[in-house]
Amino acid sequence: MNEVSEINERILGRIFSEDVIYERIKDLCLMGSRFSGTDSEKEAQDYMLHFLRSYSVDVSEYEFEYQGWIRGDCSFEIESSKISQEFPAISLVLAPSTNGETIEGTIIDGGGGSETELKRIQDSIPGKLLMINSGDTEEGWLHRRIKYANSVDFGAKVFVFANHNPGQLFPTGSVRSNRIGEIPAVGISKETYELIKEIIKKEEVVNCKVNVSNETPKLTSKHIIWEIPGEIEDEVIVIGGHYDGHDIAQGAVDNAASIATILELARLYQRFNYVPKRTLRFIAFAVEEFGVVGSTIYTNDVDLSDVVAMINLDGLVGHIPKHITCCGIEELFTQMNKLKNQMLYDPKISKNIVTASDNYPFFLKGIPNICIFGEKPDPRVGRGYGHTSADTFDKITRLDAKLSLAFAFIFIDAFNRMEVMPKKLSESEIVKILKDAKLEDQLKLLEKWPFK
Ligand SMILES: [Zn+2]
Repeated sequence: MNEVSEINERILGRIFSEDVIYERIKDLCLMGSRFSGTDSEKEAQDYMLHFLRSYSVDVSEYEFEYQGWIRGDCSFEIESSKISQEFPAISLVLAPSTNGETIEGTIIDGGGGSETELKRIQDSIPGKLLMINSGDTEEGWLHRRIKYANSVDFGAKVFVFANHNPGQLFPTGSVRSNRIGEIPAVGISKETYELIKEIIKKEEVVNCKVNVSNETPKLTSKHIIWEIPGEIEDEVIVIGGHYDGHDIAQGAVDNAASIATILELARLYQRFNYVPKRTLRFIAFAVEEFGVVGSTIYTNDVDLSDVVAMINLDGLVGHIPKHITCCGIEELFTQMNKLKNQMLYDPKISKNIVTASDNYPFFLKGIPNICIFGEKPDPRVGRGYGHTSADTFDKITRLDAKLSLAFAFIFIDAFNRMEVMPKKLSESEIVKILKDAKLEDQLKLLEKWPFK
């Protein structure tokens, strides 16, 4: 047995004989949401810096300015001939304030909010409060920001985003990336949505009143970055994950548990003097939940010429098995399938292109990138508890946390040992991948298409 595999065995043994990963997840969840602009965000930064420095890891900070957003009150009232009732609702992130005024009008249902669905009712949308649910659309799954952009384009006065999962849970999430949206946006539960749809059926015209007060200051935040020098120092693999959650939640699966995982890797590498083949640069990204803002600023600002690959952990822990996405890159897909045979584990490998997480800005710079998710046990639930107040640490088991950490360690090690890294992509290759996947229109709508 060579020295390297002995170290690997020791690290894997240690993962299962300790409970540190689970304690880290709880620490990050109990400090609060880590939402950008809150005290708990600052607490999370200090927590990471404290631990990393105690592991004698080379740590740096990357500061940047962004469009901030602070949640205020939200009232949402339904009036018809038979009912007059206020329902609990919350504002969506980066949605504007109504500045003390109440916005009032007829509320209608726009289903999944795809262009196909909205076109069918396009004459009735202008000036209305438009309910859109978070479920699949007639065009398949669409990101909330696309549904919002569609609603704005069709002339809605307010975007009412309804959860498609039960449990009296309000969905949140950003409506634009790094800028304030055009129209107010509120999240309501599935139960409220179903009731309003029923009232509309019976009474046809239902009035709705919305009043939201949010603040929109310019703020600064920072990424926490640390490196484990490799045998090949000038080839860098970035391992990233966002540490911010949503202000209504602990953000346990999304994404405290991934951050706990990379903190644990730092500790274990140091404890066992693990030297990777290529240098590993870990980045705990800030301000992801505002529309992948922090990593976009970082990739536009920093020289990435030595970065050969990016591995993004978003929702890593929580469910087994794991799903590895290859962003439409054929060579990467082929290599990942080969790599699968070297690991004593069988993750799902797909060519899925993830555009709403921290890997995407790296992809736009031509860097081969993957995302690792925990597969959802039931694909029908979509995000499930994600982006609601129910994304809490108790949904994660100790065993899932340990297995996910072990998987991350084995995968990163195997990935790093590959003889050659997949080639970087030229702009024309990136554009071809996105066009072949028919993502051009969506990405333009999302203001995430930097090409001519
Ligand atoms: Zn996330």
